[in-house]
Amino acid sequence: MSTEILKIENLKTHFPIRGGIFSHVVAHLKAVDGISLTVQKGETLGVVGESGCGKSTLGRTILRLYNPTGGTIVFQGQNITTASRPALRPLRRHMQMIFQDPFSSLNPRMTIERIICEPFRLHRVYDTSQQRNEAIQLLQVVGLRNDCLKKYPHELSGGQRQRVGIARAIALKPQLIIADEPIAALDVSIQSQILNLLRELKQSLQLTYLFISHDLSVVRYVSDRVAVMYLGKIVELTDASHIYENPKHPYTQALMSAIPQPDPTQTVKHETLPGDVPSAVNPPSGCAFHPRCRYAQHICTTQTPQLRNIASKTKKHWVSCHLAEEIDRDREKS
Ligand code: SF4
Repeated sequence: MSTEILKIENLKTHFPIRGGIFSHVVAHLKAVDGISLTVQKGETLGVVGESGCGKSTLGRTILRLYNPTGGTIVFQGQNITTASRPALRPLRRHMQMIFQDPFSSLNPRMTIERIICEPFRLHRVYDTSQQRNEAIQLLQVVGLRNDCLKKYPHELSGGQRQRVGIARAIALKPQLIIADEPIAALDVSIQSQILNLLRELKQSLQLTYLFISHDLSVVRYVSDRVAVMYLGKIVELTDASHIYENPKHPYTQALMSAIPQPDPTQTVKHETLPGDVPSAVNPPSGCAFHPRCRYAQHICTTQTPQLRNIASKTKKHWVSCHLAEEIDRDREKS
């Protein structure tokens, strides 16, 4: 039986925008705007969307690196939405983050040993020699040699630095890891090695991932379920196999049609999305996707669609589109 490790409800993270000579708040950037989801222990939930859709802010808000504007975050049954820093400290060891850029996320003045042992010092676990032994073991787990311990981040390649970032993230044996574009800054040749390492660690350490990426092919490779974000909201959420075989939301359909096909004999009609992603400061009325949606009707401009399950009770396929069923029927006919 699956256990819920994370539950967020109606989560909002709005950033104030200040202007004028008195620096008054003149507007809010709604980076995360009413997101609800659960993550089960041991699963990988992929969060995908174009740059600026709010997916990284979502990850950081869950970890309380940003304070939420509204909603709730429950981690392992504990409401951490407004927990103070001291109250969060013991929980932090159970929820860690892997960052996109392994160079800027590692302190250039620290040796790799100090970087990997930092979580031990912060959480006061192990004495100095135990910390060193643990660091050596962690290096082996992530596929690095012991002689890395004395090196500095600039002496390592991008892939090696990300392995150090992963070693630091798993040092305290966390339950949940939020991986924010963990391979986006790496050479294509080593991206798959890091992805495979993350998959192996998930199995061996029984980790749960929230895997954030703009790359649908990558998300497909690692995820059990996928949530698609657009302008701070989830527009589609279901099992990875369902969403790739039968995307229901027009935005997801357009994203899927842009994935390169490995089989050149298979032709997929490429849908070009007109226009740019609108500003999250002043999102369009109704369905925020309507200015770019080829199916948009009047209702789409006036009423905000709710995320609703359009599959059966056993199969869950959540979509936020007024016309999801009609669009689905049309696609089946064509
Ligand atoms: Fe398109 Fe309307 Fe559905 Fe939004 S609600 S995705 S505008 S059809």
